[in-house]
Amino acid sequence: MDGKASLYGLDAAALAEAVRAAGAPAFRAKQLGEWLWARPVASWDAMTNLPKALRTALAERFLDLDGTLETLEVAGADGGTLKILSRLADGELVETVVIPARDRATVCVSSQVGCAMGCAFCASGRNGCARNLSAGEIAAQAARAAVLLGRRPDNVVFMGMGEPFANYDNALAAARRMNAPAPEGLGVGARRITFSTCGVVPGIERFAEEGVQFELSVSLHAPTDELRSALMPVNRRWPLGVLVPAVRAYTEKTGRIVTFEYTLVAGFNDAPEHAKALLALVRGFPCRVNLIPLNPVPGFDGRAPDAADCEAFRSYLERHGLNATLRRSKGRGVNASCGQLRRSRIGGA
Ligand code: SAH
Repeated sequence: MDGKASLYGLDAAALAEAVRAAGAPAFRAKQLGEWLWARPVASWDAMTNLPKALRTALAERFLDLDGTLETLEVAGADGGTLKILSRLADGELVETVVIPARDRATVCVSSQVGCAMGCAFCASGRNGCARNLSAGEIAAQAARAAVLLGRRPDNVVFMGMGEPFANYDNALAAARRMNAPAPEGLGVGARRITFSTCGVVPGIERFAEEGVQFELSVSLHAPTDELRSALMPVNRRWPLGVLVPAVRAYTEKTGRIVTFEYTLVAGFNDAPEHAKALLALVRGFPCRVNLIPLNPVPGFDGRAPDAADCEAFRSYLERHGLNATLRRSKGRGVNASCGQLRRSRIGGA
């Protein structure tokens, strides 16, 4: 790193201090914040109502959007999904996905460069974790989406590269920036910002005590320890007997619903017995299940069940009182399972 911090990690007090240290009057902090969040622009050059001298002074200490996150590639796919590959100040690569829908847009942010969790079907973890992203590098991904969309995204999900609860402080600080109203944040509703964890139990416990309105999603993917450990090494550290009670305690503490992500792999976790075991596992606390047909990735020998089998699994859960949705991946055409675009650049097994 070249030592400069991203502007996108600064709260109102830090923005004010940055402007003061640059020798400018206090009202400039609000103007600066508006260029970051209210009508975000990519570079110092576009911040036309700030004096040149102020921009130069700030640029000595801070990175603008292009400096934080230089766009290398924007791949478009079916359904309007955009996959953005960006270069960070130290040369590392990171991915962000933007999913525009008719009436709302979702941005899927990365929290780490790569991932250390090593889930068998996930492309992000194949080369391990190079480093954590700073809060500014995470929040800047949402600002970049706003620049590309021409408006503020409605939802943010931590479902890009990385495990947010392995980078807890920065992920939470980034969520605060994305949630705060302009000029110190993007103004995305707290309930529209979702943390997704593979099951890092200490993170879930901390999140339960945080007193925030952000949403929690847990990547479950299998209803028994045997199957789950085969897919997700994290299950050996925090098996279902530890994970599920922690999730239950989270719902009790916060009064919130939790979402379980469940990737369907044909012949592996998609039989009626698995649906039955899943129902038994999550009985008795407020939750829903989001089924995701496996997105094929090189190096994982599995495929999605056909559409009728996915729907049969969903309706079995639904008939037994568990709210279940089936999500069709929108990014197949652009290698949009997270981590794939970066891997195609850096190579690797
Ligand atoms: N580390 C976090 C967030 C990143 S992954 C987590 O595990 O929740 C976001 C979601 O995509 C997770 O549910 C993950 O298991 C899922 N996923 C990863 N690779 C996939 C693939 N090839 N097909 C379908 N879902 C996948």
